[in-house]
Amino acid sequence: MSWDPTEKARIMLTFDPEGLTGAQRDGDACVVCHKKWPRPRIRVGTLPNRARVFACPDCAEALCPSPPEEVLTAHVRTSAAFP
Ligand SMILES: [Zn+2]
Repeated sequence: MSWDPTEKARIMLTFDPEGLTGAQRDGDACVVCHKKWPRPRIRVGTLPNRARVFACPDCAEALCPSPPEEVLTAHVRTSAAFP
């Protein structure tokens, strides 16, 4: 599993290209709902060949929910525990 350090904000998923259409594999359609317009812009994962997979905002939120505030608060607390 490789991580792109510039994309650390979101959890990246690996998708099986067998289950995707050509448009989805090319990043032209949402990987979840197949919507092509507006073009999906949120990178939610990759294919085994490292191609990027995109989703529309609604589907991306369902796939990779943004970290809730509690997580950030917990992180600050953890940092404070190690001076
Ligand atoms: Zn979608």
